[in-house]
Amino acid sequence: MAISRQIKESIESSSWIRKMFEEGVRLRKQHGAKNVFDFSLGNPDLEPPADFTRLLRKLVDENAAGGHGYMPNAGYPETREAVARYLSGEHQVAMSMNEVVMTCGAGGALNVVLKTLLDPGDEVIIIVPYFVEYLFYVGNHGGRSVPVRSGKDFSLDLAAIEAAISSRTKCLILNSPHNPTGRVYDQESVGGLGELLARKSEEMGSAIYLVSDEPYGKIVYDGKKVPGVFKAYRQSIICSSYSKELSIPGERIGFAAVHPQADPLKDLTEGLVFCNRTLGFVNAPALMQRVIRHLQGVSVDVEAYRRRRDLLCDGLASFGYRFVKPEGAFYLFPETPVDDVEFVRALQGKNILTVPGRGFGAPGFFRIAYCVGEDVIERSLEGFRKVAEQYMGGR
Ligand code: PLP
Repeated sequence: MAISRQIKESIESSSWIRKMFEEGVRLRKQHGAKNVFDFSLGNPDLEPPADFTRLLRKLVDENAAGGHGYMPNAGYPETREAVARYLSGEHQVAMSMNEVVMTCGAGGALNVVLKTLLDPGDEVIIIVPYFVEYLFYVGNHGGRSVPVRSGKDFSLDLAAIEAAISSRTKCLILNSPHNPTGRVYDQESVGGLGELLARKSEEMGSAIYLVSDEPYGKIVYDGKKVPGVFKAYRQSIICSSYSKELSIPGERIGFAAVHPQADPLKDLTEGLVFCNRTLGFVNAPALMQRVIRHLQGVSVDVEAYRRRRDLLCDGLASFGYRFVKPEGAFYLFPETPVDDVEFVRALQGKNILTVPGRGFGAPGFFRIAYCVGEDVIERSLEGFRKVAEQYMGGR
């Protein structure tokens, strides 16, 4: 008896975060939880906003008849209307609930969108470094990932993207704020990408869709705003969730939203609804749909993440680490002075768990997920300093 060869290989090739997780369990047993600094997972440690818990309690107490039954596969109309209204304001385009499908998180949304768009062998451009799950999501639906390097400071390299476009390119996945670099692409890059995709779609005679993966949309610092893709390009689909902005990743609630002028709009939205059903999601969790309907625009205290970013960045910079300061999300992606796996192992020796850059297609870097308490960051700094001294003493 054997499982699929492809799945077996995928498990083995994608095991960095899992390895770190297992290492964390071992180290905690050996040294006590307080002495292990686990920066390996993007699992937000902040509790959801008080409004979330209050609403949840109220809805459970109300115990509305039929509240646990099936619903339209796209989700409750009232929830889709609330999301459409919110997005209309954010993106300055008139959206209706017909363009919104509620999903099981951003991950569910991406799978539903890719299932809808891809024929076997179609290509999906992803930007390096990338969220590793993209490789599997694309593979799930018979597509082929085409990784494209990013420019200096992890900005978009439009020339490299143009060079990677072929007659099989079906879409590009954009992620801003970005995991693992914390980059927020500026207006000019997003606008330029929209123009590029419009021109290449015209040349190729078929649309290249922009799939915008935005679960960190509200986690931005220093008054920055994330430039919207809908303004830049009409053939866009937003995949987002409440996982990070409300700190509820376990609740699996998100959505896919299609630009109201995307083409062919009816096929796209019908495709999403069909795939939400036939991938077995059926519909997004009912209770969560009823909660988030009232929480449009609400988010956790982003200042708490900003303080963590500054604490970590100031400490690491003073020890000689080189990195691009994150503008959003809660990840830092510094360079490693030696092989990234060797460096991550050295940090492990100080009970600090991070993930090597090769897990994101970018050897020579490592990722620190700083969605942990300030006290954890403070206590970890000594270990970061010692490893810096060992490898970068001369800097
Ligand atoms: N996209 C990116 C870039 C992520 O980092 C994550 C989760 O870490 C997801 C998508 C999936 O988010 P969700 O929990 O909403 O499925």
